Amino acid sequence: MKLNERGLLIVISGPSGVGKGTVRKALFELEGHDLVYSISMTTRAPREGEIDGEDYYFVTRDEFQERIKNDQFLEYAEFVGNYYGTPRDKVDEQLELGKEVVLEIEVQGALQVREKAPDGVFIFIAPPTKEALYRRLLRRGTENPNMIQQRMDKAEREFPLAHKYDYIVVNDEVTNAADRILAIIRAEHAKTERAIYKYKEMLEVE
Ligand code: 5GP
Repeated sequence: MKLNERGLLIVISGPSGVGKGTVRKALFELEGHDLVYSISMTTRAPREGEIDGEDYYFVTRDEFQERIKNDQFLEYAEFVGNYYGTPRDKVDEQLELGKEVVLEIEVQGALQVREKAPDGVFIFIAPPTKEALYRRLLRRGTENPNMIQQRMDKAEREFPLAHKYDYIVVNDEVTNAADRILAIIRAEHAKTERAIYKYKEMLEVE
């Protein structure tokens, strides 16, 4: 399959609390009909209001480990005591159909995907400042202080990994960040290596 026929794999990643989820939702509001969100699987307990099969597939540790054994994840990571992973079959199926598939995952997982799917588009969402990230984690109020500190420590270790991504988008304001991601997706489509096959005859490409 040629690059242009297969859908684009878009990986939105970055530290916990940076607002990846909110930015992703805003992106889907801007351009939802062309994008498919890959619902992750996790062993974390659902937060209030989260729906199984919509926010995550919530499973037990045993179930998750069974799926690891059966190689059913494109990537997975253990994050602050819980497993999170991207079910492989859905992603492949949608890409084959030519859909744009969006993953919203933490840094370790994104770097695993980078190895397996180097033609994906990797976007690191950064906070405007470290303090802003800390305030966000506090404000979210879904974790106890110990968990918040663990997430903050992890973020400190993740910042230097931003250089492994294709793009860095600062989440200063959600709609701005979503807008920039949309611009990135459009630019990626216009890249010669992707676009040239569409204009094969005119441009006389094999
Ligand atoms: P939360 O518990 O806040 O929902 O998620 C914790 C972290 O795990 C977030 O950074 C989130 O983006 C990330 N995450 C969610 N799904 C996946 C996944 O399928 N794989 C990986 N590696 N990380 C994920």
